[in-house]
Amino acid sequence: MKKYIYLIILIILLTTISLVFFHQKNQTQVIEELSPPPLLTERTETILIEPDMTFSTASELAGIDHTLMMTLLETAETIYDLSNIRAGKKLQYVFDITTNKLEQLIYPIDTEEELFVIKQEDGSWLAERKKIQYDIKIKTVEGVIESSLYESAVAQDVDIRAIINLADVFAWSVDFGMGIRQGDTYKFIFEERYRDGQYIMPGEIIAARFVNDGNNIEGYYYNEGEDKDGDLIDGYYDPEGTSLQKIFLKNPVNYRYISSGFTTGLRYVSAFDVSTGHRAIDYAAASGTPIQAVGDGQVISAGWNGSYGNFVSVRHNSVYTTNYAHLSQINVKYGEKVSQGDIIGKVGSTGFSTGPHLHFEIVKNNTKINPATVDLPSDKAVAEENLEGFKQAIIKWQEALRANPPG
Ligand SMILES: [Zn+2]
Repeated sequence: MKKYIYLIILIILLTTISLVFFHQKNQTQVIEELSPPPLLTERTETILIEPDMTFSTASELAGIDHTLMMTLLETAETIYDLSNIRAGKKLQYVFDITTNKLEQLIYPIDTEEELFVIKQEDGSWLAERKKIQYDIKIKTVEGVIESSLYESAVAQDVDIRAIINLADVFAWSVDFGMGIRQGDTYKFIFEERYRDGQYIMPGEIIAARFVNDGNNIEGYYYNEGEDKDGDLIDGYYDPEGTSLQKIFLKNPVNYRYISSGFTTGLRYVSAFDVSTGHRAIDYAAASGTPIQAVGDGQVISAGWNGSYGNFVSVRHNSVYTTNYAHLSQINVKYGEKVSQGDIIGKVGSTGFSTGPHLHFEIVKNNTKINPATVDLPSDKAVAEENLEGFKQAIIKWQEALRANPPG
């Protein structure tokens, strides 16, 4: 009796296996019939540039002879110097599959443009710069801050580069070093760039909202076309069309240099306090952290200054001067013109100082004022004739930002 059972099981198994096998075989045949292999005319040799690799050695790996390599180098020169290729990027050599001759060379100049060196009909070579066409997806992120914007966003798996872009939008109105409060909220709508279905990087922030210590700040990207020099007139504006850019950045220590991110790496030691005579803000940051000029101006002091240690003073206009003390390194000279965001030195502990920090002062008409509470005006706005267009353009983003406020 047992023998029969085994036999039956064996038969069932064999039938199943053969059924599955034939079924799969059938499917495979169907797939082959539906999609014949595409007729390839090109073959691409992609060389990932290693440290110490030169354009010459990379080209050799791709099977390019010395003469052709020199031709490519010389042709590209007017657009991009290929002797400056960077490790980590890729060189693409595209060959004709039948002749096995190089047809074009592609190299990413930066995140916006690619260099193309293309063979012409007459056999000569031509170099071109082409804008990279990304596929764009629109993403919205919102959150409530417990400790820092950085940590809140990282907890939501948001690309850190998008967070830095967001902080850049509000760099004139929010001090990401010491101005963040528990319960602050943010919401932003931004582009994500994709190529061949793969996520590459965040693109422009379209609209953003930040509620900092109860103050609602909104910024909308707007582009008014080009000026007479061909430069784009664009930026972030509040709903009334006033630029978010002001004469001073909120924080002299740029969050993008704080590797551990925003408030976790950047604490303040002492606030502005008239009773103790400390008419400044002290920012604690690792020694060597870059310090930026908060506004455009001219250096009126750069050197040793007693208890201030290494000291830089920047005069912005007839009213305002800013001072930066205890630096470990000074990057500017007396008389030099600086622009907002320029690195003028590095955090240190020189002079009368108990540990690495930046002592930062704002002087208004010879009186030291509180950098945390100073409210500076904006001197830029959407041009009168574009204001109606701007207001129409932001309506849908405004609605999206204001819908279901977080918290
Ligand atoms: Zn101080």
